[in-house]
Amino acid sequence: LLIPSVALVLAVCFYSRKEDFKPEMLKGKYVIVTGASTGIGEQMAYHLARMGSHILITARTEAKLQKVVSRCLELGAASARYVNGSMEDIIFAQLVVKKAEELWGNLDMLILNHVGSSYFKFFDSDVGHVQKLLNINFLSYVSMTVAALPMLKKSGGSIVVVSSMAGKVGFPFTVPYSATKFALDGFFSSLRQEFVMQNTNVSITLCILGLIDTESAMKAISGVFTSPAAPKEECALEIIKGGALRQREVYYEYTSTKIPLLIREWAPDLLDYLIRRSYNMEKLKED
Ligand code: NDP
Repeated sequence: LLIPSVALVLAVCFYSRKEDFKPEMLKGKYVIVTGASTGIGEQMAYHLARMGSHILITARTEAKLQKVVSRCLELGAASARYVNGSMEDIIFAQLVVKKAEELWGNLDMLILNHVGSSYFKFFDSDVGHVQKLLNINFLSYVSMTVAALPMLKKSGGSIVVVSSMAGKVGFPFTVPYSATKFALDGFFSSLRQEFVMQNTNVSITLCILGLIDTESAMKAISGVFTSPAAPKEECALEIIKGGALRQREVYYEYTSTKIPLLIREWAPDLLDYLIRRSYNMEKLKED
């Protein structure tokens, strides 16, 4: 009885808070979205465009970014621009923020979403890969945050960090990826504490996502991870809402994130067991 009651209370809190969101909150706002050439980032760009934001998007593939920018303009973006380059290079990460400063002299929301490609198999002992992924998935986030802080402090803006259930709980086959996502939680949750202590009016929203139906995720798990995937369009909107409402964390979607985390508090071994059971090992061997 306790678990359903807690789940009900949380669900009511969750849905009542989101009632406050209005798309006009983003109208005319200056927003950077990283990793926006595909997947959830691309969908966030389209939502922001419909809401009338100024958008600066990034990724490595210029042709895809050009298409996303054109679509954003069709959808009603106040303006839409892109910068292409790799977030493995910390200088590039800083350059993106500089570009926003040159274009707008202002920034309301920094959405950190990009993710470097990794493998889906047992940890292969490749320390170099862990280091590379830390650069892309973690250090570039830190670097962009540092570069953007003066503008965000001026606007009373928001930092939105896209993380994963794999950044809260141990998952097999994504060891380097998980490490980078746990690092984000450590850095940004600690920074949030300092912002409160220093009266820094910049919100930090950490987004804990379950499995989402993006092309890259579906290809990576390819029948091995058997849980259902949630839609990327809705996920993208929930992330934006969470950032606009200055929530400390966004859980999407609830049953694959918040509920398992509640189980973890009381029975971590049970949760680990349930996670391991979600993998089709026969399929993994075939691949
Ligand atoms: P995608 O693979 O669809 O998109 C990743 C984006 O990052 C692309 O725009 C890609 O563009 C860009 N990118 C990749 N490598 C680099 C690089 N080295 N430098 C700069 N940009 C790069 O990812 P999703 O939409 O699936 O995921 C988005 C976020 O959501 C990620 O942070 C992910 O960890 C998180 N998440 C996703 C889940 C899912 O199931 N989909 C589950 C949990 C969390 P390009 O290749 O052109 O550079």
